[in-house]
Amino acid sequence: MTHTVPPAPTSTPSLNDIVSCISGYDPNAMTVTQAQAAIREFIQPIAAIEKVAIRSALSRVLAQDIISRIDVPAHDNSAMDGYALRGTDVAAGAAVTLKVVGSVHAGARFDGEVQPGQCVRIMTGAPMPAGCDTVIPQELTTDAGEHAVTLPAGRVRPGDNRRLRGEDLAMGSVALPRGRRLRPSDIGLLASLGIPEVAVQRRLRVAFFSTGDELRSVGEALDPGCVYDSNRYTLHGMLTRLGCDVIDMGVVGDDPAALEAAFRSACEEADAVITSGGVSVGAADYTKQIMASLGDMMFWKIAMRPGRPLAFGRIRSKGRDAYLFGLPGNPVAVTVSFSFFVRDALLHLAGAEPKPLPRVRVKTAATIRKKAGRTEYQRGILAPDDTGAWTVRLTGTQGSGILRSMSDANCIIELEHERGDVAAGEEVSIVIFDGLI
Ligand code: AMP
Ligand code: MG
Repeated sequence: MTHTVPPAPTSTPSLNDIVSCISGYDPNAMTVTQAQAAIREFIQPIAAIEKVAIRSALSRVLAQDIISRIDVPAHDNSAMDGYALRGTDVAAGAAVTLKVVGSVHAGARFDGEVQPGQCVRIMTGAPMPAGCDTVIPQELTTDAGEHAVTLPAGRVRPGDNRRLRGEDLAMGSVALPRGRRLRPSDIGLLASLGIPEVAVQRRLRVAFFSTGDELRSVGEALDPGCVYDSNRYTLHGMLTRLGCDVIDMGVVGDDPAALEAAFRSACEEADAVITSGGVSVGAADYTKQIMASLGDMMFWKIAMRPGRPLAFGRIRSKGRDAYLFGLPGNPVAVTVSFSFFVRDALLHLAGAEPKPLPRVRVKTAATIRKKAGRTEYQRGILAPDDTGAWTVRLTGTQGSGILRSMSDANCIIELEHERGDVAAGEEVSIVIFDGLI
């Protein structure tokens, strides 16, 4: 086993430089916020860019601002099926009968200029004829025979029901900022600008493995005293959702040579490495020792539950660096640590604009026990109560090994550091798991 610590790249501060700036820094009693800030500061985003067709760009991170080269819409157009007219003809607010001098469909144009006392039948999305600035919906008009319609008094004001050129996006404006993780509507927006492909950050490569002699992989027999390795599967799902390329390195036993080989190969292959297990207090294995021997690593105890131990830093092998997150082994702790430390860190590494997970305040249906002096992440079910008001309740037993509590949940209840017990009816912050798009 090698014990030489490679020199940190000169351009970036060491983890120690960063944590020494935290007031009251104590590796054995870090707050969640301190740990998040230190991780954020230590991580340098990757710089490699590639071009992809917009349809392949979902969840990718934009590498450049997208500037609109056209006005969207490209011309003033109608928001309704109806009649386009001159606003001055209805400015007085009185009923008026106008002569219908033509009609225009979406995708077509009305040639000529509409004169006072005239109007043009117009469909939604059709360009406004010259001279017109107002549309009255079809259903408000009455037929006045021989190519004429009557408009009732006071039902339309000048400028109504007209969409202005460039009101969606003006030419030269930033349509989407660099760092945006593209959502379906963003892809639609790109298409609306006529943009076929975009520059995105390359995908992150993330390697992960589980540590522990007691772990068996799916498909193997479960020997006495052993458990199936679930963390790799949860991590695989969470990393895939983040849009990472994943390298699943399987289970590595508590064996120094095997662990060192696994850390080195992960580091050589990936931008980030995630392991679970072996970082707890008094862990009877070599994981921490080997992590420390390979680079700039810190071992924190964080004032949180679940997920107290966390190893974080950067390791190096054969001249290649990778950020390393050593998560605790307990399955719920893995999910929580990933959600509140790793996720944000990977997005930052991928070049995404920083965006906190949205929190919503809702009332809790029942008392929640909570110890002041640590942040607690309890698993919740958000659902309507008898009156239809959305309230949150716990999923049941909250042990950090009880993965079902996570599977049953549809949100995490985030109970702040300072807070004590929560009474029924008090508001709590939640982070909802599933979004609309
Ligand atoms: P450790 O952090 O290694 O002390 O592990 C804490 C607990 O989590 C132990 O009960 C382990 O058996 C369990 N554990 C560790 N890794 C995994 C895993 N990959 N899948 C399921 N349980 C695990
Ligand atoms: Mg272990």
